[in-house]
Amino acid sequence: MHILHVASELAPLAKVGGLADVVLGLTRALNKEGHKGEVILPKYSSLDTSQITDLHIEFRELWTYHDGRWHPNTVWAGKVEGILVYFIEAHNDTHFFDRERLYGYEDDTARFLYFSRAVLEFLLKSGLTPDVLHLHDWQTAAIAPLYKDLYCDLGLTHPKILFTIHNIEYQGWTHIEELGKAGLHGPSYLKPQRLQDNHHSTTINLMKGGIIYSDHTTTVSPNYAKEIKTPEGGRGLNTTLSEYDYKFTGVLNGLDWDYWNPETDPYLYTPFSWKKAAPKSKTPSFDKKQINKKILRERLMLEDEQSPIVSCVSRLVPQKGIELIKYALFRTLEKGGQFILLGSSPIESIQEEFHGLKQRFAQNRHVHFELNYNEELAHLIYGGSDMLIVPSIFEPCGLTQLIALRYGTLPIVRSTGGLADTVFDVDYSPLPMEERNGFVFEHPDCQGVDSALLRALHYWFKKPETWEALTLRSMQMDHSWGPSCAAYIQLYENITKKSR
Ligand code: ADP
Repeated sequence: MHILHVASELAPLAKVGGLADVVLGLTRALNKEGHKGEVILPKYSSLDTSQITDLHIEFRELWTYHDGRWHPNTVWAGKVEGILVYFIEAHNDTHFFDRERLYGYEDDTARFLYFSRAVLEFLLKSGLTPDVLHLHDWQTAAIAPLYKDLYCDLGLTHPKILFTIHNIEYQGWTHIEELGKAGLHGPSYLKPQRLQDNHHSTTINLMKGGIIYSDHTTTVSPNYAKEIKTPEGGRGLNTTLSEYDYKFTGVLNGLDWDYWNPETDPYLYTPFSWKKAAPKSKTPSFDKKQINKKILRERLMLEDEQSPIVSCVSRLVPQKGIELIKYALFRTLEKGGQFILLGSSPIESIQEEFHGLKQRFAQNRHVHFELNYNEELAHLIYGGSDMLIVPSIFEPCGLTQLIALRYGTLPIVRSTGGLADTVFDVDYSPLPMEERNGFVFEHPDCQGVDSALLRALHYWFKKPETWEALTLRSMQMDHSWGPSCAAYIQLYENITKKSR
């Protein structure tokens, strides 16, 4: 099968969060299974093109409609981490993709509506015939109605559409005028059975369009699939998801097993694995994790001592439990641990707050804050820490806990969304001992954090052998794309078999 992923992010080239990892990981897994997985992205001017090989022009003059006029675009193609990626370069005078960041602009919905329409125009003009268009999040959701209501009539009828919700918090709210600029008759979509927002009657909701008009919708973990069908978790789309439940599934995200591999990770100071060192052997072994810990401390100017490192690698947004991250920092220090935070926030007040904390701890050699995006340091942190805290208020799947597990760093998480599907408490999980792999708390408050963090620290200080056994076991758990890729292939097959 030929699957074209239409997305706004792709690791490591254009990454804000887990969406980028998922698009890369799933596409590579599909290719390994003998399918043809490809990706199409906007050609953001911020892309580091040195990470693309064989970059060439694929389609020189692609004219696409926006706001009453046709605009020229160039479609590029090249390889990223071994996969074929198309890039649409827009030459319109609003410079939609010629910006410093990927998102966070007033005209974000206009930018991605433009991209959505350009993707369909590219398929129509180039003759590319994927079997499935796999759309990701609100940014590309409008492709579903544009395809069914506009492009099918123009003769583009082959691909089926699968839509994945990575985070229901961001739904792509806009107005009928904006939809009109993409070429759809705005007022006819302001209806409950179409794109009208379930709470605001004059608002267009692009994610809702993705759910209704796609052949199948998925989200990124089975538990989140349940949560977003409830009024508390659904952010207004719970009724739509319940109505279309017959074509809605939760599929757990996997990890790109080659990219996130401590045995080969080029960003680590030295590779390591769960295996015990054979005498004089140079192969990666578990003891080398300690070398990475030492180097991490040196790099961040932390005191070198017998203490655990608790880390957090996160976008700093309310969803991630900002207050709980701060609380965990204070509690870790009180109990004799060290704390590393790698995170950045699109919200100025939060970024400032953390800058304030960073200054406050500037002289403290048990704390390090890195308030930016740093792929390399993230790998070193996963490799050199003992614990990773993920105190999310909600978490669709979460990848950091999965990466941590593979790098021998035990996760401390709140039981929500995909965190509850992947981390099982060492003391309290009903699962057999060999499936338990971390520390879990229920309530998003200080007592909740204490109930897991203090137990983890206690294990580290008082039961080092149990800690090591737990770590080694967790490193061997399989969170690769294998089973989830198979689940996606099954879904692709089901929808491609269906007649229109
Ligand atoms: P979300 O998609 O909500 O941000 P996920 O846990 O699904 O959360 O994915 C986060 C991804 O982004 C992981 O690959 C993580 O390592 C990475 N990440 C988050 N913040 C940073 C940062 N400041 N620097 C480098 N990588 C980061």
